Parts: sequence; C-alpha cells; structure tokens
Amino acid sequence: MAFHRRVTQVIACILVAGSALLIAGMDLVADSIKNRIVEKIEAREFANDHYRVRLSARKFAQGEVIYLDLQCRSQERCKAAHFYLSAWGKKVSLQGERKRGWDGLLPVGPTMRPGLYRLNLFVRESDAGVWRSALNFALRIEATAFPQSIVKLTVPRKFTRKLPPQTLREIAEQGKKINAAFRTRSERQWQGPFGDARELAPVTSPFYQTRLYNGIAGRPHTGVDLSGTWGEPVRAIQDGTVVLAEDFFYEGKIVIVDHGEEFFSYYQHLSLMQVKTGAQVRRGTLLGYVGSSGVSTGPHLHLSVRMGGQLLSPLSLLPLPVREK
Ligand SMILES: [Zn+2]
Repeated sequence: MAFHRRVTQVIACILVAGSALLIAGMDLVADSIKNRIVEKIEAREFANDHYRVRLSARKFAQGEVIYLDLQCRSQERCKAAHFYLSAWGKKVSLQGERKRGWDGLLPVGPTMRPGLYRLNLFVRESDAGVWRSALNFALRIEATAFPQSIVKLTVPRKFTRKLPPQTLREIAEQGKKINAAFRTRSERQWQGPFGDARELAPVTSPFYQTRLYNGIAGRPHTGVDLSGTWGEPVRAIQDGTVVLAEDFFYEGKIVIVDHGEEFFSYYQHLSLMQVKTGAQVRRGTLLGYVGSSGVSTGPHLHLSVRMGGQLLSPLSLLPLPVREK
C-alpha cells in the first residue's frame, strides 16, 4: 500500500514536471507556472497581563506553517520559564529566553478541518514547577483551495512498464530507508529566517495539487516543483543535519535534512549531491545541483517539507518573520 502510494506520488510529480515538455500549450501549464514574489504576511495577536503571543503566516489556512513569537511582560514570572503551545491535539515546543522571547513553528496540516480552534499556552515557571495554563485564545483556520488539474496525456512507457523483481526489491528497501530517515529524532536545529532552495525559481507544480486522470483524482503533490536547468544550485532552507543522501529509483538523488523536532526538508531529482549523510548544514549550504535523476522527465527541483509527520507547503516558510538568533 505504502509502496503504491509512493509510486503514485512520484509519478504525479513527474507528470507535472514534464508537463511543460509534454503538453505545452495546454491551459494547465499557463495556470500552474507563476513567478514567486515576496508575499505579505498576516498576523494575529493575543495577550493578557503577563504574556503576548504573536502569530504570523502567509494565511491562517490548511497546508501553511505559522510562526509563533511569545513575549513575557513580567520580569519575575519568566526568569526560568518553559513554554509549549497546545493546538489541535499537538504540542508545539517553544524555545528562547526572557530578553528575546520564545518562538516556535505551528503546522496546519493540509487535511485539517477548517474552523475555529482553541489554542492553549502552557507555562512552567521553573525546572521543578508544574505546567499550568498561561493564555488561551481562539484561532480561525480557513480552507485552502488546493489547485486541481486535468491531465489528458498518456503516461510515458517508462513510468508504467513492469519492473523486474530485483528492481522492486530495491525500491522497497529504498522506501524503508526513507521512512527510517523520517524517524530520526533530534533537538531543535532550525534557527533564524528560512532561505530559498532555488533562488526565485518559478513554481511549475504547486503544493498539494491534485491531478484528475480521466476524472479520477490522483494523490496530492507532496511538495513544490521549482523549475531549473541542469547544474543550478540547490540550497538548504534551514540549519540541520543530512539524514539521507542517496540515489534512489523514483526519487533520484535525494537529500533529506533533519531540522529537529520532527521537522524535515527534502530535495529530489538532483544531478549531483554535494553532501553526505551526517553532514551538518546551515541555511544556504549547497546540497547539490538541479537535475532529472530518478523517474523524472526534465530538470527541476522537487522540494518537500514535513513536520510531525505532516506535509506542508515549503513556500509558506519563506516569508515568516523568524527573528535572527
Ligand atoms: Zn514534485
């Protein structure tokens, strides 16, 4: 099952990546290629006498990541305090200290039901203290109209041909390695604002786009496809540790970066990798070069972001006003 899902996902990615070549002239291409520009950010603020929480996001909607900035207004209360936010059944850890404040990332899964949610900030005023509610507030999450496209093309034979048993075994092993990489658990490694994996590259296939093949919906796109030509640099969007850098059948040369606390970014179809498993990277570190390795019809970068096991829009991270450390 997982294998089939993965195949559909990869094929879906390929179809759109190759769409410019295969179905140039169709409306789909014109609709899906948009230049990325710096987007404006929405903000919400909630406060009481002691704490002030500021939430920032491109939009408070499905598939987006929200940045949370917490300031403490009380000199006494926050000297050695720890905080976390409880939101839609998840616990978001916050890091920082009193002078600068605390911050964290709050993911809104693409399938989360839109509506009004109650969020709770918890505080523990010392290492030995007990957790108690510090501030609670309501936040409305909107629906995102994820794009749909109708695909009329015939899938090239190389994506549908029957694979020999040996190749199928290798693919299964590769799937296990990817899942193992996603099971890596580490402390928070990300810090400061996010960087672009590909500078100002147009989006050729947006996040969570669903393709309709003869009226039947395929699996939503797991990331964003950014256009590129062979050999253009691909850079890490944040600080972290490379937990996988391998050459796989479907994904091609794939690099997975662990940013800590179940937050990963990954980069597929590279022509060349410049990092090895275990490497420490910073935002902007060269990971490799744009290519078309694996099952792909043309050079592009597939970039995905995963937090707490959920896929999120990679581009929603870019404009977040994350403060420098
Ligand atoms: Zn893709």
